[in-house]
Amino acid sequence: MTSYSLEQRQAAFEELREVKAEFAAKGWFPGTSGNLSVRIGDIRGEEFQFAITSSGKDKSKQTPEDFLVVDAAGQSVETTKLKPSAETLIHCEIYKATGCGAVFHVHTVFNNLVSEWFGDKGQIPVEGVELIKAFNIWEEEAIIHIPVLPNYAHIPRIAEQVAGALVPRIPGIVLRKHGIYAWGANSFEAKRHLEAFEFLFEYVYRMELLKK
Ligand SMILES: [Zn+2]
Repeated sequence: MTSYSLEQRQAAFEELREVKAEFAAKGWFPGTSGNLSVRIGDIRGEEFQFAITSSGKDKSKQTPEDFLVVDAAGQSVETTKLKPSAETLIHCEIYKATGCGAVFHVHTVFNNLVSEWFGDKGQIPVEGVELIKAFNIWEEEAIIHIPVLPNYAHIPRIAEQVAGALVPRIPGIVLRKHGIYAWGANSFEAKRHLEAFEFLFEYVYRMELLKK
């Protein structure tokens, strides 16, 4: 049973539309990859709903078929021929584990490169960069470790490992040679986090080159 109003649904779609256009302009959805979601209404026990990008669409285009609403199991709650993104189950796990309000996932060259470089260690270290403050971490010269999970073709196999890999103060998780999932209390915060992660990945990549 759904528990959101038409206005809430429209507001969620509008937020996704704006973020999708901004990220598309950055080239963050190559080859129809990536997916975005925003929760609609509250989490009640184990139940919640969220709006998510539909599968296989060119995300640089705006169409009436870009988004649909799914439940905590990743199933559509409305009658539609649209399919949710294949990676919807990972969004479900992140909402369950964190109680967040929005989850954004993109594939970029920098997140792929650093995930491979640090993949065996299971985490990407970042030391003392100002933009770590985007995660509300205010220590001087803070050192953070962004978790990296192996990537599997079978999405449920990834989904079942997500909750155990999360690091409480880090609002993101990287799949090796695949991409990042970043989240926040709402779409504004999730976007801030994702942009900070991508800045840090480029920084880490270039710093590793300087060390050579
Ligand atoms: Zn992906």
